[in-house]
Amino acid sequence: ILETKQLTKKFDDNLVLKGIDSKIEQGQVIVVIGPSGSGKSTYLRCLNLLEQPTSGEVVFEDQSINQLTEAQLDGIREKMGMVFQSFNLFANYSVLDNINLAPINVQGMTKADATKQSQDLLQQVGVADKADAQPASLSGGQQQRVAIARALAMHPDVMLFDEPTSALDPEMVGEVLNVIKDLAQTGMTMIIVTHEMGFAKNVADEVWFMDDGQIIEKGTPTEVFDHPQKARTQDFLSKVL
Ligand code: ATP
Ligand code: MG
Repeated sequence: ILETKQLTKKFDDNLVLKGIDSKIEQGQVIVVIGPSGSGKSTYLRCLNLLEQPTSGEVVFEDQSINQLTEAQLDGIREKMGMVFQSFNLFANYSVLDNINLAPINVQGMTKADATKQSQDLLQQVGVADKADAQPASLSGGQQQRVAIARALAMHPDVMLFDEPTSALDPEMVGEVLNVIKDLAQTGMTMIIVTHEMGFAKNVADEVWFMDDGQIIEKGTPTEVFDHPQKARTQDFLSKVL
């Protein structure tokens, strides 16, 4: 469903992605781990062209997307939901309106249909009672679950998560991870950058270890966590596990 071929990204002289070949199949849950600065966020942002790759190709649903115009890309990005570390909810809108906004303005849904869908999504992420609240009145975990609901409202084919729990207080991490886990069980295709290794073991079909701009090891959670092949992977895991 989503593929990169020899993807590179340079910021000035800094080669941050060094030729990444990767392939995500429909329904797969990929967890990307790796040290700070290894290029995980840059990789995710290249997948939906929030960053323009320096060279190489991004192929989404059999279409090469890195030469598309911004207008064409808007359509593509609707199909790739993205959830960031910071929840980025619109502070001036209620929770419900945050989720309604894109379906109404981008997809032309009626307000009634959008509201029905948003309420269902809020139910799914466990904050149905917060529909009329302002985002600032919610806990971080609740805000992040609303952000997930907002991304789902566009019916994405793929969900990209960039450290969705790393800005949260520890007691709120679990509730957000559970929502993501439930989503995995619905068959959603997902790429998740996280430092939550227990979660990675639980939900990942494949774990990718990124180091210095390359994916240097890939495998099932058991392969990567219990039998890492590369010294760099072993070293990293010995520090985080
Ligand atoms: P972390 O775990 O800390 O989030 P990461 O693996 O996500 O790290 P990236 O954010 O992708 O790493 O950064 C990789 C490298 O690219 C870093 O050296 C960073 O300084 C550089 N970089 C990222 N974004 C930019 C940018 N917009 N301009 C210049 N350099 C950047
Ligand atoms: Mg990052």
